Amino acid sequence: MKMGRVEGKAAIVTGATSGIGRAIAELLAKEGAKVAVTGRNVERGMEVVESIRKAGGTAKFWKLDVSSEEEVERVFAEIAREFGKIDILVNNAGVTGVDKPTHELTEEEWDQVMNVNVKGVFFCTKHVIPYMKKTGGGSIVNISSIYGIVGSPGIPPYHASKGAIRLMTKTDALIYAKDNIRVNSVYPGSIWTPMLKKACRKMGILDEEGCRKAFARMNPVGWVGEPIDVAYAVLYLASDESMFVTGTELVVDGGYTAM
Ligand code: NAP
Repeated sequence: MKMGRVEGKAAIVTGATSGIGRAIAELLAKEGAKVAVTGRNVERGMEVVESIRKAGGTAKFWKLDVSSEEEVERVFAEIAREFGKIDILVNNAGVTGVDKPTHELTEEEWDQVMNVNVKGVFFCTKHVIPYMKKTGGGSIVNISSIYGIVGSPGIPPYHASKGAIRLMTKTDALIYAKDNIRVNSVYPGSIWTPMLKKACRKMGILDEEGCRKAFARMNPVGWVGEPIDVAYAVLYLASDESMFVTGTELVVDGGYTAM
């Protein structure tokens, strides 16, 4: 029988109830990992678990809001008990927040994005490290964004949060290199998910075809990416194929940032 690329590993994916996170959870399971599907929406989470099980994979859902340290600590302990270990953590949960210029933003609007995108990555990394140290290593993959590399005239807290993830990744890669824990980051460009559709609605583009075309035009390849495009990048970084890779930035953007 053909071995999966992450056969026998135990993985946690945050924000696995939608879009990119869902595709990551499904691909890791297809390649042999036991997957903890996590997120706040129970119904969508159960749907993802069902789809993984139907395809012959192993998965279980845990309700988890990454902005709560208490929840992260408790849920990770439950996952470690259930799977016996944690080899892979994918910090994927993220929100864009309100689109206002900096001088109009409230502290609450700023914190709403930071609490999920930055503190969430911090809490999940903090509480997964002890489990990875116990088993002699692991792989953490942080989902940033091309908006963590280049600016745009909008969503300031999102840019700040995704830029922070870039350096958190590199610092943690160095701190934990001797523990055989690799920490890498992935930078999606425009990927066809509910998040992108929401961005279009905010731009006043209400039809899906128009939305796809608007984003496709910005990409040198001429189309918009799919969640699976990001999932394959994560699979490589999660697997032992990337054993010598830590602290890196893997861009998946159809050429956007090459310009
Ligand atoms: P999405 O479809 O809106 O999914 C976002 C996910 O994050 C959902 O599963 C949501 O789950 C979860 N989430 C939000 N707040 C959370 C919280 N407090 N605790 C736990 N989970 C939370 O968006 P997506 O496009 O798949 O985005 C996934 C990641 O890719 C994000 O980090 C995003 O910034 C990044 N990204 C996306 C694009 C793109 O073009 N789509 C581009 C660059 C980067 P619940 O609602 O169940 O909590």
